[in-house]
Amino acid sequence: MSKTDLRPALSRMLPYTPGEQPPPGKFIKLNTNENPYPPPPTVVSAIQDAATGPLNRYPDPTATSFRRAAANVLGLPGPDWILAGNGSDEILTILVRGFVGEGQKLRLPFPSYILYRTLADIQGANWEQIPFLDGWHLPTMFGQGDSDLRLVMLPNPNSPSGTVVSPDEIEKLAASLPCPLVVDEAYADFADFNCLDLVQKHDNILVTRTLSKSYGLAGVRFGYLVAQPSLVAKLSNIKDSYNCDYLATIAATAAINSQDWLADVVEKINTTRARMQTRLTEIGFNVTPSHANFVWCTHPSGRHQELHEYLKKNQILVRYMDFTDWGDGLRISVGTDDQIDACLMMIERYFS
Ligand SMILES: *Cc1c(COP(=O)(O)O)cnc(C)c1O
Repeated sequence: MSKTDLRPALSRMLPYTPGEQPPPGKFIKLNTNENPYPPPPTVVSAIQDAATGPLNRYPDPTATSFRRAAANVLGLPGPDWILAGNGSDEILTILVRGFVGEGQKLRLPFPSYILYRTLADIQGANWEQIPFLDGWHLPTMFGQGDSDLRLVMLPNPNSPSGTVVSPDEIEKLAASLPCPLVVDEAYADFADFNCLDLVQKHDNILVTRTLSKSYGLAGVRFGYLVAQPSLVAKLSNIKDSYNCDYLATIAATAAINSQDWLADVVEKINTTRARMQTRLTEIGFNVTPSHANFVWCTHPSGRHQELHEYLKKNQILVRYMDFTDWGDGLRISVGTDDQIDACLMMIERYFS
C-alpha cells in the first residue's frame, strides 16, 4: 500500500485504448470512424460568431438551445426527453455511474465497443460479454436478466461489424430485461432505421447519440441521451454541472439544424461504402455488409496485422483489431472517394 494508491477495484481495470491520433496531414486517416468531410459551414460560422460571446460566463448547464432544436428535428415531444453531454462517451459514463453499483453487472455483446467494460471496471462493477451468433444475431439470453444485472449496452449499428439488430428484436429484448437497454446509436445516421420511436413506447429503452461521426464534429465533443423525461431528470442530477461548454453547445445546435447537409454527407459516405465493399470483396476479403461509416473485413490469408503495418508505412491508417479467440480483422473507416481509392490501391499492391 502507498499513500497514493487508487481504489483497489481500479488496479484490475483494463484501460480503454482509443485509436491513434497522429498529427494532422501525415496520414490518410481511416482508423477512428471520423467524418472525412468538414462539418456544416453554418457550424463554422456559429463558432466564429460565438468567439465574441460571453466566454467569461458559465454556460447553460443543460444546453437548452441544443435540446430544443434536437427535440424539434428528431420529432420528440419536448426538450425534457434529452440529456446533453460532453460527447456520447460522457453520456455512457453517466449511465453506468447511475445504474451500475459495485459488484453489480453490466452486459454487452461481443465483439463490440470495449469502452463499456472500462466504465464498469471504474465502478468496481462486473461485466459480461455475450457473443453474437452467426450472422450477427443475438442469442435469446442477451435479453434474460439475473439479480445482479443492472444495465445492458447494445451499439446499433455495432462496431466493429457495422451490423444491426432490428427494432423488433430490440423491443423483445427490452421487454424481457429487468433493467435499461441502452441502444448506442453512434452510427445510426448511416443506417436505414433507428430506435427513437421505441424510447417513447418503453421506459427501459434508452438511446445515445453523438455528433462525432455523422456531423463531422469529433473534435468538438458533443453527444446526447434520449430517454423518458423522469429518467432524464434523475440522470441530470449526477452529471457535472457544466458538462457542455458554451462553444460546443452553439456548434451542436447549428449542426442539428443542418439536416439537409447531413442527408447529403450520409449519402456520399454510403455510396463510397458500397463501392469499397464491392472492391474489397473482389480483392478476396470477406466483407460484412455495413450499416455504418466503416467496413469490417477479414482476408483468408489472415495477414491482417501485416497489412495494417504495410498500409501504415504507406501513410494509410486503418484499425487492426484482435479479439483473441474470436479472431482478428481490419476495420476501415469510409473516407472520401480519393482516400478510399488510395487505400484500395495500396491493399491490391500488398497482395500482388
Ligand atoms: C465513437 C463512438 C462513441 C463515442 O462518441 P463520442 O461522442 O465521440 O464520445 C460511442 N459509441 C460508439 C459505439 C462509438 O463508436
